[in-house]
Amino acid sequence: MTGRVLVVDDIPANLKLLEARLSAEYFDVVLAETGRQALAILERERIDVVLLDVMMPGLDGFEVCRRIKSCTATMHIPVIMVTALDQTNDKVQGLEAGADDFLTKPVDEVALMTRMKNLMRVKALNDEMAMRVASGASLGLTLPDLLKPPSGGRVLVVDDDQRMAHRITQALKSEHAVETQPDLAQALETLGTGAYDLLLVSLDLKSGDGLRLCGQLRAQPATRHLPIVVVVDPGEDARLMRALDMGVNDYVTRPLDRNELLARVRTQLRRKRYSDHLRDALDESLELAVTDTLTGLFNRRYLEAHLAAHLEKALAAGQPLSLMIADIDHFKAINDTWGHDAGDLVLREVAARIRRDVRAVDIACRLGGEEFIVVMPATDQDTANGIAERLRDAVARDSFPVAANLPVTVTLSVGVATARPGDTPQTLMKRADSALYAAKTRGRNQVVQAAA
Ligand code: GH3
Ligand code: MG
Ligand code: MG
Repeated sequence: MTGRVLVVDDIPANLKLLEARLSAEYFDVVLAETGRQALAILERERIDVVLLDVMMPGLDGFEVCRRIKSCTATMHIPVIMVTALDQTNDKVQGLEAGADDFLTKPVDEVALMTRMKNLMRVKALNDEMAMRVASGASLGLTLPDLLKPPSGGRVLVVDDDQRMAHRITQALKSEHAVETQPDLAQALETLGTGAYDLLLVSLDLKSGDGLRLCGQLRAQPATRHLPIVVVVDPGEDARLMRALDMGVNDYVTRPLDRNELLARVRTQLRRKRYSDHLRDALDESLELAVTDTLTGLFNRRYLEAHLAAHLEKALAAGQPLSLMIADIDHFKAINDTWGHDAGDLVLREVAARIRRDVRAVDIACRLGGEEFIVVMPATDQDTANGIAERLRDAVARDSFPVAANLPVTVTLSVGVATARPGDTPQTLMKRADSALYAAKTRGRNQVVQAAA
C-alpha cells in the first residue's frame, strides 16, 4: 500500500532524512517547512497521511493538528506527530489536538513504516466509503457532533492480572462504561454480540494468547471494525508489530499513564464514530442504488446483479426457477388521456399489487418504463403460470383511482418462462419476452407460457 505523505518540519535536514526513507518505500512525499505552508498544501492537494513535527516556530505542531482536525475537508486525514522527547505530556496534548499517532525522534524505521501502513489502511477504507457515499453533506452529522469528545463508550478490558485490570478500569470509568473479562473465549463471544465499542487487551496473559483473540476478532464480520488497543511491556517490539500488522488500532505501554490511556481511547472512539457514520450512509446509498424510486421495487441493476446467481444455483441443484415479465397494456394511452402524473400513479399501484401478490422469496423489479419482472425461485412452470394469472387478475379486477370519480381499468400482458439446463439470464429473459409479445398479439390482458 502506498500513498502521498506530507512531511512537516522546520529543519531541512530532518525533511531530507524522512523524504529519503519514505521514498525508498515508494511513498509519494510532499515537504513543508512551516505550519502555514502545510495547511496551504492540504487545502489544494490530496494527502493521505501527515507527519508533523511538534516544535516549530510560528504555528506549532499542536495548533496545525488542531486546525487539520477541525476542518471538514481535512479532518479524516491521519496525523502522526513527531516529538523530540518521549514525553507523555506532549503525547497527551497531541492526542487532545486530535493526533492519530506518535513517533519520537530519532525516528525508528520499523515504527515509522508500521504506523504509516496502519494509518494508510484506515484512510483508504474511509476514502473508499466516502467516495461511495453520494455526498459528504448527506452524512447527516454536523461537525460539532464529530468533534465532541466521545464519552460513554462501552469498553471491555481483557486482562487476567487482576491488579492491572483494576487500574485500567479506574482510569477509564469516569468517562466510559468499563467491564472486565479475564477469559479469552468468553471475551470473543460477548464481543461478537456487538455489546462493546472498544477492546483493551493485554498481550501478556497467563491464560492464553491475546494476539490470537485480536486475529479472531478481525476475521469475523461482526467485529472486523471493533477498535482494539493492546497493552504491552516496553521492549516487546516484535509482538507489537505483529499486532499492528494484524489490524490492531493502537497500543499503550506499561506503566500506564492515565491521561494517555484516556486520550487514546477517546481518539479510537472518535474515529470509530466517523467510520460508522460513513458506513451507515453507504448502506443507505447502496439501497438507493438498487431501488426504483418511483415504485420502491428493485431496479434493473439489482436484477442484473442477482438473477445470474439465482439461476446458477437453481440449475446446479436441479431446482426449478421461473420468471415472468409483465407489461401494462396501452399505457401510452393512460399518459395521453390523464396525464403523466396519472401514469405514475398507475405504475405505483401496479407495483403495490405485484408486491402484495408475490411471495417473500420472489424478487420483484421494475425493468423500466411500464415493464416489470418477477423472479420466482423454486417454482415450476405450472406454479409460475398460476402466480402470473393471479397477478393479471389482481390488476384487471379492480379499477385504478386515476382521477376523482373516474376509475380506470388497467390490464397486464404477461410472459412466463422456466429455466432449462444451459440457460443464461439473457436466454431465459428472451423466452419470457417472446411469450409476452405473443400475449400482446393475441389480444392483451393474458398470460402466455414459453414452451418448456
Ligand atoms: P402496449 O400495450 O403495446 O404495451 O402499449 P403501451 O402504450 O403500453 O406501450 P408503449 O411502449 O408504446 O408506451 C409506453 C409508455 O410508457 C411510453 C412512455 O412515455 C411511458 N412511460 C415510460 N416510463 C414512464 C414513467 O415513469 N411514468 C409515466 N407516467 N410514463 C412512462
Ligand atoms: Mg405497455
Ligand atoms: Mg412497453
